[in-house]
Amino acid sequence: AIPLVVAISTAVSAQNGLLIRNRTAFEESRKITAILFDKTGTLTKGEFGVTRIVSVNNQFNEDELLRLSSALEQSSEHPIAIGIVRKAKEKKIEIPKPVNFNAITGKGVEAEVDSRKVKVVSPGYLKEKNIPLPDDQNNNEAETVVFIIVNEQLAGYIALADEIRPESAEAITVFRKNNIKVLMATGDNEKVAKAVSDQLGLDGYFAEVLPHQKVEIVKKLQSKGAFVAMTGDGVNDAPALAQSDVGIAVGSGTDVAAETADIILVNSNPQDIANLILFGKATYNKMI
Ligand code: ADP
Ligand code: MG
Repeated sequence: AIPLVVAISTAVSAQNGLLIRNRTAFEESRKITAILFDKTGTLTKGEFGVTRIVSVNNQFNEDELLRLSSALEQSSEHPIAIGIVRKAKEKKIEIPKPVNFNAITGKGVEAEVDSRKVKVVSPGYLKEKNIPLPDDQNNNEAETVVFIIVNEQLAGYIALADEIRPESAEAITVFRKNNIKVLMATGDNEKVAKAVSDQLGLDGYFAEVLPHQKVEIVKKLQSKGAFVAMTGDGVNDAPALAQSDVGIAVGSGTDVAAETADIILVNSNPQDIANLILFGKATYNKMI
């Protein structure tokens, strides 16, 4: 016979955008006391639009910066990459083929274009290399910014904007009612992380997080007694998903994340997690 929880969870998941891979995950979901969300594509839509392209030394103009960066980004699946390539196509820029493409985990991408060494990287990468931020970048604008480095020289930057999903606020209301702490870990910069956290009223956030640091965050929450659910989308998130008590891979994510997760969130919608928890609690209360 099929155990009752399994039968119920299958029915629930089918209707609610969830694929339950680990049969105990449904049962475990009612014990969750903290959820660590990734930002891009889960709490936000994950659709970055380019808002500004800025040359810092006038060696390359905006279109040239877009041409170089899109050459690299066409080989990346990151939402930032998709936004940059879309912009280049809109502007009918002919995107060159890069050589020796390499993804710098959690920091950006690099390759050679027109025999130049080009990198498109995070603010954290600049700090690491002791490259000062351009003056106009020390503002309080909550925008995602990636920097373009050509032959080890900072050439410019691209600012991008994403939007919060309307469903996120509703899901957070449910978590709050159930005494579940809502936290966010993102590779994006401090200002963007704070803006999203403030707008959604999160209990806390971690910005400029490198993939391996997510495991430590989950462990720390667990050591304080939390029963932790975590959402993640990348190959890099797999270890943290495995460490969490309920690992949730988002639908648009990679196969590796999905293989490590207990649950797959098909539509990347946080509300589906809220429904899972509510349904898990209601079912359990009926069974005892
Ligand atoms: P998140 O999933 O929270 O966005 P990631 O680890 O994927 O975090 O990325 C962290 C940061 O690294 C991004 O905010 C960006 O600054 C930089 N980055 C990652 N991938 C790319 C890429 N393809 N192009 C440019 N920047 C990137
Ligand atoms: Mg990611």
